Amino acid sequence: MLMVGRYHMHFLEEGKWSDCMNEVGENNDCLFCKIVEKKIPADIVYESEDIIAFKDIEPKAPIHCLIIPKKHISTINDIDGSNSNIIGLMYEAAAQLARIFNVDKDGYRVVMNCNSNGGQTVYHIHLHFLAGRQLSWPPG
Ligand code: AMP
Ligand code: ZN
Repeated sequence: MLMVGRYHMHFLEEGKWSDCMNEVGENNDCLFCKIVEKKIPADIVYESEDIIAFKDIEPKAPIHCLIIPKKHISTINDIDGSNSNIIGLMYEAAAQLARIFNVDKDGYRVVMNCNSNGGQTVYHIHLHFLAGRQLSWPPG
């Protein structure tokens, strides 16, 4: 990782320049960072110091929310000892959402997609919180 002015430049193995993050951990090109900054509207259902959760714009279940860290992390591949505490906080938020939507007893699913084969389309990690119907398994 290189420091270039205010930005951390990441050089990926594939040889592409990646995230341009400022010192507070926001990625200027990232849709979900813009939601965190409230530059793009979202239907926010939960917020804490480190986490925000909002309704998915194209819900795949009667209840479909996205739980994201406020600090930008692109994919699961970027999780390490320096930031993995956020994963526990995201699951705490999931348990909170389950109580808020009263689906803790009936059940729900949380899932995080990674890169192309995993179906990731927004490169700021997010837990999908899906509930309100019987979910099939295995996923397609
Ligand atoms: P994934 O494909 O796992 O990266 O999930 C990205 C999710 O973000 C999809 O379910 C989209 O419907 C959702 N999404 C994209 N743009 C927005 C937005 N502006 N507000 C809320 N959800 C969004
Ligand atoms: Zn981001």
